[in-house]
Amino acid sequence: MNSCIFCAIASGQTGAEILFEDEQCAAFRDMNPQAPTHILVIPKRHISSLNDLGQAPHTLMHHLFLTVQNLAESLGLSRTGYRVVINTGADGGQTVFHLHLHLLGGRSMQWPPG
Ligand code: 5GP
Ligand code: ZN
Repeated sequence: MNSCIFCAIASGQTGAEILFEDEQCAAFRDMNPQAPTHILVIPKRHISSLNDLGQAPHTLMHHLFLTVQNLAESLGLSRTGYRVVINTGADGGQTVFHLHLHLLGGRSMQWPPG
């Protein structure tokens, strides 16, 4: 998947600043932030979307959500709150087809989303 921008970021081929990484995942700031804090957490392994989660180890999503929770804690968002979003497919608003969790915080969110 050489053309995947998130694979390139995860493997250090771009200048993106990695906030956190381990053997399974990487976290970096969204280039077009929708909130004061807007971080993307991705698996290092290419998975196109939530639709393809069946190809991944059963522990992967737990690991990604735990990473989001740890980032929220370390960035001081746990008390005030935050939102985690996984856009999936065209109607879900997905634009990059490498699974990612958006961590949004630092402002009050609206519901329902637009
Ligand atoms: P989606 O719409 O697929 O849920 O979210 C993709 C997100 O990736 C968007 O919020 C977009 O701003 C972000 N994004 C796309 N390309 C890049 C990139 O090259 N670097 C960074 N840091 N974010 C990106
Ligand atoms: Zn990828």
